[in-house]
Amino acid sequence: MTRYSAFAIAREAMRQHTGWQKAWASPEPKAHYDVVIVGAGGHGLATAYYLGKNFGITNVAIIEKGWLGGGNTGRNTTIIRSNYLQDPSAAIYEKARSLYETMSQDLNYNVMFSPRGVMMLAQTEHEVRGYKRTEMANKLQGVETRFIGPAEVKRLVPIMNIEGPRYPVLGALWQARGGTARHDAVAWGYARACSAMGMHVIQNCEVIGVESVGGQVSAVATTKGTIGCNKLGIVVAGHSGHLANMAGFRLPIESVALQAMVSEPIKPAMDVVVMANTVHGYMSQSDKGEMVIGGGADHFNNYTQRGSWQHIEETVRALIETFPMLSRLKMLRQWGGIVDMTGDRSPIISKTPLGNTFINCGWGTGGFKAIPGSGWAMAELIAKGEPGSLARDFSMFRFREGRFIDESVAAGVAH
Ligand SMILES: Cc1cc2nc3c(=O)[nH]c(=O)nc-3n(C[C@H](O)[C@H](O)[C@H](O)COP(=O)(O)OP(=O)(O)OC[C@H]3O[C@@H](n4cnc5c(N)ncnc54)[C@H](O)[C@@H]3O)c2cc1C
Repeated sequence: MTRYSAFAIAREAMRQHTGWQKAWASPEPKAHYDVVIVGAGGHGLATAYYLGKNFGITNVAIIEKGWLGGGNTGRNTTIIRSNYLQDPSAAIYEKARSLYETMSQDLNYNVMFSPRGVMMLAQTEHEVRGYKRTEMANKLQGVETRFIGPAEVKRLVPIMNIEGPRYPVLGALWQARGGTARHDAVAWGYARACSAMGMHVIQNCEVIGVESVGGQVSAVATTKGTIGCNKLGIVVAGHSGHLANMAGFRLPIESVALQAMVSEPIKPAMDVVVMANTVHGYMSQSDKGEMVIGGGADHFNNYTQRGSWQHIEETVRALIETFPMLSRLKMLRQWGGIVDMTGDRSPIISKTPLGNTFINCGWGTGGFKAIPGSGWAMAELIAKGEPGSLARDFSMFRFREGRFIDESVAAGVAH
């Protein structure tokens, strides 16, 4: 793999850009792999990457029914933070955040990580108490956050109206090293690094069945034929229930569409990420100048990857009191992604009832930020057959055993 560098750009400029290699290969599937990963979103690709990097396992195929990052990985609003309340969540999200800091260098691919700071607004007394509690929990967990008052909020985001009649801004939980990254680039960077290690990234290939012998996985049936494997990783977000069904078990997961939109591009107006959880809206400004706005999830289970009028109205109406300038912006695009929600709003990284089959899902509305930490933990689980310290608490069996990691109460919203 050619290394990307200032020197390479200069060299290619001299020869009319004729020397660039394809970023990743598009091979035909082999008959058998040591490990098959289903789903080439960020989590599946990161799992494969850390299998190779941390454990030297490179006879791996990552099988994707559509295109790289065409699921939620390429549809999210790219917020990265680790200020969670519960210890297991803070540990895995902080691991992920710290890996984002060096991801561009590690992958030799610019993922445009921008640690511009994330603030979660407190707009009710209940939220003030909740975020002060999270600040204390974060101190114990080694996660750097700070509760800031309304004056500091206004200083950081001058376009904000902090004196709204319904929801005045009473403060915010501020994580200075949170931020955003370019979502497609994360998928592309991991795919390129996997391909460079000799792994097979196979697009336009849908898994339609899981085969087993004596209680152990033996192969997956795909639209490109049967592919044998010693171990299987299922990493398909909103389609996890379907894959679990193929493998013969049930999951405590619901799939719903979560929506987002962007405005027309404007001059730089806001250089931090703001989340307003009470009114349920969040916003950042992209490098192109568009205001990236996230809204709510549909109130019914579905698999439609598209937006709806109701959410534009609900979300913009909610944000306008705090950001009056939004009333003068045209909205440019709107879309949806199918998110996988568990009852406690925490993920699953787990062994399954089928031998040598592992599942990573349940990241719901907030898994982009977790991609490197999740891949790290899932790779360890697949390589060793047992979860390491990051994944231990996220077993799918916790719902049966009553060991919830309740971030739904802790965060209210989890983007
Ligand atoms: C609108 C929106 C906003 C969001 N905002 C944020 C945010 O700001 N911050 C944050 O941290 N998270 C956010 N999220 C959540 C985040 O996007 C997801 O948690 C994360 O991207 C999940 O990644 P993944 O790799 O698990 O899933 P995906 O990227 O969905 O990848 C799964 C892949 O599996 C493939 N697949 C499915 N079935 C099969 C099959 N049978 N055979 C082969 N392949 C299959 C799919 O095509 C897909 O590409 C948001 C999500 C949405 C929809």
